[in-house]
Amino acid sequence: MTGFLEHGNNVALQSFGVVLDASPDALLALTADGTVLAANAAAARLFGLQRDAFTGLDHRLLIAEGFREEVGQLLQEVLRQPEASPPPREVQGLRRDGTEFPLEVAAALLPRTGVAWAPDSHTAQADPPGARLVLSARGTAHRKAADANLREAMSLLTATLESTADGILVIGTDGRVAGFNEQFLSMWRLPPDVMEADSEEPALRLVMEQVADPESFTARLGEVQGDPAAESHDVVELNDGRTFERYSRPQRVGTRIVGRVWSFRDVTPRRRAQEQAHRAMMDLAVQAEKLRAMAFQDPLTGLANRAVFNDALSEALQEPRLKTVDVLLLDLDDFKEVNDILGHQAGDDMLIEVARRLRGCVPTADVVARLGGDEFVVLLTACPDADAIAACIVRCLHVPVTINGTVQRPSLSLGVASLGQDSMGPSELLRHADIAMYAAKAAGKNRFLRFHPDMMQALVQRTHMESGLQLAVSRNEIAVDFQPIVSHRMGQVVQFEALARWDRGGERVPPSIFIPLAERTGLIGEIGTEVMAVGMVQLAGWLNEDPSRSLAVNVSGVQLQEPEFAGTVLRLAEASGVAPYQLVLEVTESVFFDDDCSLIQQLSTLRDAGARVALDDFGTGYSSLGRLQDLPVDTVKIDRTFVSMVRTGNERLPILSSMINMAHSLGLTVTAEGIETAAQADYLAALECDSLQGYLFSLPEPGERLGHALHHAEEALNALKGR
Ligand code: C2E
Ligand code: MG
Ligand code: MG
Repeated sequence: MTGFLEHGNNVALQSFGVVLDASPDALLALTADGTVLAANAAAARLFGLQRDAFTGLDHRLLIAEGFREEVGQLLQEVLRQPEASPPPREVQGLRRDGTEFPLEVAAALLPRTGVAWAPDSHTAQADPPGARLVLSARGTAHRKAADANLREAMSLLTATLESTADGILVIGTDGRVAGFNEQFLSMWRLPPDVMEADSEEPALRLVMEQVADPESFTARLGEVQGDPAAESHDVVELNDGRTFERYSRPQRVGTRIVGRVWSFRDVTPRRRAQEQAHRAMMDLAVQAEKLRAMAFQDPLTGLANRAVFNDALSEALQEPRLKTVDVLLLDLDDFKEVNDILGHQAGDDMLIEVARRLRGCVPTADVVARLGGDEFVVLLTACPDADAIAACIVRCLHVPVTINGTVQRPSLSLGVASLGQDSMGPSELLRHADIAMYAAKAAGKNRFLRFHPDMMQALVQRTHMESGLQLAVSRNEIAVDFQPIVSHRMGQVVQFEALARWDRGGERVPPSIFIPLAERTGLIGEIGTEVMAVGMVQLAGWLNEDPSRSLAVNVSGVQLQEPEFAGTVLRLAEASGVAPYQLVLEVTESVFFDDDCSLIQQLSTLRDAGARVALDDFGTGYSSLGRLQDLPVDTVKIDRTFVSMVRTGNERLPILSSMINMAHSLGLTVTAEGIETAAQADYLAALECDSLQGYLFSLPEPGERLGHALHHAEEALNALKGR
């Protein structure tokens, strides 16, 4: 190269001058003692000096005071050992305006070349004479700023790491701990020195001791470690009840994986809150289930309720593929008596037992529901023989059951209605079953009947009858018949029982039909008063002739609930001139099982006034003989079902004798009802029964035929004497 230059190639020299000037680094040619001989354009820009101002300048004037010696040493080193190429120095430069700036300087020995040093003139010049060194200088202000940024970023990172609630651990690919934060130590309760070990082993061991399921934890760690690029997340349960969430992702520098970052978050409070919320949700769900059950279930029997049945029936009727839909509606017979006499608990027990049997009878039923009270319903779809099921229900339910210590035989009336050829709505079908059920009751109970259109007629009649009964009193349709009651000992009629009659448009409606209807509709009060008033008026004369004679009237429980009842009776007696002690009020035993005290009060008022109380139809109800002594009664009327047991008069019927003896021992008198034969009269007379009543002596007769009735009765008595 020297040769090339010595040949004075002008173009080459010019190019070299351009190169020097284009250099981004400042270049200064120095003498061995540090005097500047020449400088390039970059130097002029860096130090803020004209280029010619450099010539002859002591280089030290370009260096800030505290760094001059260092630069001097650098130059000395280069002069002494040019091949050692000493590293650049970080110093402060000094501008012409006195400002300092960071500077990196390097120096090299200048070979003697004769290269041009006037680049801007584009003319080749030889090296400045005496130049021995070249000093290159680079401003590093930009680098300092970058360093400061880096430091700031680092401290921010550290602060973030330390302030985060997560415990963080960084493991290098070589397995060494590359970093962790305080939180990591405190979460895992690790002593700091365990992290200074060469491997993660000791820390890992302490961690494992705390994990509730170390096996699966290890397995999961293994999976992650097997795949350095994997990111994973799971939940770690600790022995002490804490729960950590674990995240793990690779640590990368650029695209290279240099380690793995593990971060742990203590989610125990969140987990507990979640568990609490979950428990609350479960409780709510249980509550909701209870509410739902309450909405669809009969709470007493556990059967479905009316709403469920209605829905199921509507659905069944809308299902065109169903060939048969049968509704079996059933109502217990005389359930009110069980409730009244044995108490509500027994009533409930009876309903529960009936529900149980019902379910057992029809396991294939679509729905078995309790509609309310003692009314149940069964829905059958696609059943080949609904009548057979109905018969089975009636049979199964009639099996005896012991309730509250007494043996009962539940009996029920059941109506069957089925979907026929014509389409029918759910309410219509249910109504048909209801009509059939009533027909079953009317036909004598404890049976089932299938709906027949004729039954509609009966229903129409029933409703018709109800409206007719409402007008019966005002239309004077209620009449009274009198049936004599005789004392065979005295050989005469001692009493008449007044019996209500309804003459409805020339047709006589039996009391067994209209009395229950009157009781249900509350009309019995009005009718009973009418019977009493008419009876007293018509019998006043006969009663006045002999104070030992009396008039018996039937009183229903409904009437006794009327607070004015006793007052009304006494007023009527006074108005008709009948002494109260000549009155006998016939009540059935069921009235005494009502909790109503005012009812007892009514009877007491009347008894205090001298009236007597007779227990009608005795023996047919639920009470035992033992209960008799507690009741405010003076007489028992033995029901004719017992009397009818006497056929020849030679049979032994201890039930009759014990009834009579018991009543007598309590100071009560006894009347036997339904005496139709002389044998029956004799039998009861022999048992010391006080009075006898029945067709043998006389049918019930209207007031006008009272003489006839008396006559007939006395004749019958005489006939008995002659036997
Ligand atoms: P009850 O009070 O037991 O009346 C006796 C019933 O037995 C009467 O029926 C009577 O006609 C009938 N009877 C009397 N002797 C014989 C006999 O030898 N053989 C047969 N087979 N029957 C006999 P009736 O008049 O049909 O009355 C039925 C029931 O209606 C009465 O039974 C009574 O419980 C009720 N009743 C009648 N009138 C009234 C009333 O004014 N008020 C109330 N609350 N109930 C009444
Ligand atoms: Mg009676
Ligand atoms: Mg009776």
